[in-house]
This record gives sequence, C-alpha cells and structure tokens, in this order.
Amino acid sequence: MAAVSDNTELSATLFDRASAVTPGGVNSPVRAFRAVGGVPRFMASGDGCHITDVDGNTYVDLVCSWGPMLLGHAHPEVTAAVQAAVSRGTSYGTPTRAEVELGEEIVARTPVEKVRLVSSGTEATMSALRLARGATGRAKIVKFAGCYHGHVDALLAQAGSGVITLGIPGTPGVTEATTADTIVLPYNDKAAVTEAFAQYGDQIAAVITEASPGNMGVVPPVDNFNAFLARTCKDNGALFISDEVMTGFRITKSGWYGVDGVEPDLMTFGKVMGGGFPAAAFGGRADLMAHLAPEGSVYQAGTLSGNPIATTAGLTTLRLATDEVYARLDETSATLQRLVATALDKEGVPYVIQNAGNLFSVFFVESTEGQQQIRDFAGAGAQVLPRFAAFFHAMLDAGVYLPPSAFEAWFVSAAIDDDALATVETALAMAARAAAAV
Ligand code: PMP
Repeated sequence: MAAVSDNTELSATLFDRASAVTPGGVNSPVRAFRAVGGVPRFMASGDGCHITDVDGNTYVDLVCSWGPMLLGHAHPEVTAAVQAAVSRGTSYGTPTRAEVELGEEIVARTPVEKVRLVSSGTEATMSALRLARGATGRAKIVKFAGCYHGHVDALLAQAGSGVITLGIPGTPGVTEATTADTIVLPYNDKAAVTEAFAQYGDQIAAVITEASPGNMGVVPPVDNFNAFLARTCKDNGALFISDEVMTGFRITKSGWYGVDGVEPDLMTFGKVMGGGFPAAAFGGRADLMAHLAPEGSVYQAGTLSGNPIATTAGLTTLRLATDEVYARLDETSATLQRLVATALDKEGVPYVIQNAGNLFSVFFVESTEGQQQIRDFAGAGAQVLPRFAAFFHAMLDAGVYLPPSAFEAWFVSAAIDDDALATVETALAMAARAAAAV
C-alpha cells in the first residue's frame, strides 16, 4: 500500500517559517519530532477521529490534542454551543452561568466539594501546591520521578513527558532554592515514601502524584499505592494531591478516582474539562478551599479564568460524555491494544502494553524475558528508542498519528469507528515490520 502521507511540502515550509520565529518551531516541546526525527505535521483541520494536515494528508488521531478531544474533533453539538457562546462575546471578566454549571458538574462527578477554575493544568497544580503550603504552613512537597505536573518550577525535577522525551536532566532557569523543598521519589515505592516521611514528616505540606501516571508512558499505581499515600499523608498532617489533569473525565466519568476510589485532599483537572479550549481546575475539601482568596488569604487569580467560551465547550463535552461514551472508549481502547499486540507478536518485536482504563501505551522493551511490568521511571526509560521511531514513522506514513514520543500515552476518542480501526490495523502491520527491522 502506498504511503498515505508522502507529501509534506507545506508542513516543511511552515516548519521553516516557525523555526525562524519560535524556538524549535513549536509552542510546546512534545509537538516537535525531536525524538523521532522528521518534519512535524502542521494540522489544518479535524473532524471526528481524523485530523488533516496542510498538505491534505488525513490521519486517524490517537493523540486527541494530548487528551482533551474525548468526543473527537469538531463535535457538532460542542461546535454549535461554542459558536453560540462566541456570538454573545468572548470574555467579560465577571462571573457567568457556564462557570457555575461547569463547577457543579465537576463537583457532581468527583469527590471535590469546591473547585476553582484556571486556564491550564500547570496553573492548577501550581495553585494546588500554593494552597497546600498555605493551609499547612509547611514548605516541602513530595513528587515522583516520571510524573509530569506541567511546567511548574518546583515540579520540574525529574519530570515526565517532554522533559524525558528531550532527555533534559533538570531545567536551567529553575533555581536550586526553588527545588530545595521538592523531594523526588521513585514511583510505586512505598519504602521510599515511608523513609521520606520518617526524615521530614513534619515539614511535608503535600504529596502530589498523577492519579495514574501517563507521562512516562502509562504506569499505573500498584498495591494500592494511592491509598497508601493518602493514609501516610493523613498520619503525618500532610495533604494528598491527586493530579487528574490527564486522567480526569477521560478514564471514567470522574477519572482514575472512579477506578480506585481513593479520596484526595486536593485534585487537579484539565484537558477534557475544557473540551479543546484552555480550561483547568483544582478543587478539594471545602475547609481547605476556604483558604483561597477572596474567602481566605492564599492568593490565586486569572483574567481569563472561567472564560465563557472555554467553560461552554467543557460543559457541553462533559454533558455529552455519558456512561455509554465511556463504555465505547474502553471497548475501542481494548481493540486497539489487541491489534498492537497481534501485529508486534507477528513480527517478534518485544513489547509491554500497559493501560489505565482506556489510556494505554506501548513500551518497546529490549526483551520480554523476565519483564513483567513497568513500575517506575527507570523501567519506562529502558526502551529501544530507535525502534519506537521506526514504528512511529511507519504509522504516520500509513495515516495514523501517534504521540511522537515513546514516553506518552495513546489517547482514544469516542469518534473512532470501524473504518478507522481498519486503517490502524493495516498501518500496524507495516509499523511492526519497520520496528522489527531496527
Ligand atoms: N498534569 C498532568 C498529569 C498532565 O498530563 C499535564 C499536561 N500534559 C499537566 C499537568 C499540565 O497541563 P497543561 O499542559 O495544561 O499546563
């Protein structure tokens, strides 16, 4: 079968122009093809489960804007609601009805009692940390290697996502003073957590973790790790912050909370709740949230927080995300995982597939001998990266858009249909052969 995306001339031209005015030619590092090589595709439109680039190549989209597009692109009801909202004006800097309704929807779906809207996941985690420190009067934060919580200075230590993809050890520009209060521990390591609390227990304001990490590939918590963290925090007067920016409203109606039911003190959300617009949130127990201005003295604010277009898109998306939608996402994801496994098995390519609900990723491990499960950052790092690059490009050439990194989750949308699955199946046969040849 001929390559689907053999013409990339206009993407290449735009990339040259972009590189002249923007560092690396992209406005967020993981969009660049640094880890896989080649020209990033500049997208011009999206429709359902497809995205189409400026050269007219169409791809089945398994990135979904890195999570938000749960229902697929340009969903007619979301588009109509957004168009109606835009025609009423785009921002007032006053409270609006959509904000209240989005807040109510989040409170109804999750254990949080109160919620504050912001514009990005980064702002959500940054604000949650400030609140935790303000409420406890303590300075230290525990985070886990391989978890990514946005580009918050204090949380960039051993972060996942683009930080691993680009192999950046620590980020210049983040001072030692800023990270002096950040304790980084291996994920899924209860002994390390116990030891950190034994040493610093009365200084730790909070433990922050991805509810089920997806930023070093999908590495779910094992042995009730979240319940252990929640209990350890409680016993030591620290707060447990569950970052559900990626998993929230994607894995279940609430998020990973719907799977393990562990109740955090604070939670962060983003991606799906903005329906493709910049909206995110943090929330938690009412007594903790009461520390926030104007009720309390921990300051936090935003000109575009609760923006009427973003909240309309998010609210419409969440209202359309019914139990049937989540069942369909689970089914589609299971089918995709099976197709990947079958294709890689056929070519003898060693792999580990891990999932957290419908979120999954494929680890191109050296060998499956003795390999059971990827539990942490070190395990995720032991991959044959050139094999992923070959696999990625073969998929792209055959019309399937995957995250351009071996350390990212694959995202499904409810718009994926049988035709799209057939395209993926055909692509996988070629990609598995390409991976086997490395
Ligand atoms: N937390 C998690 C778990 C994330 O996956 C991300 C983004 N991938 C963020 C926080 C940061 O969100 P944003 O990119 O909207 O700032």
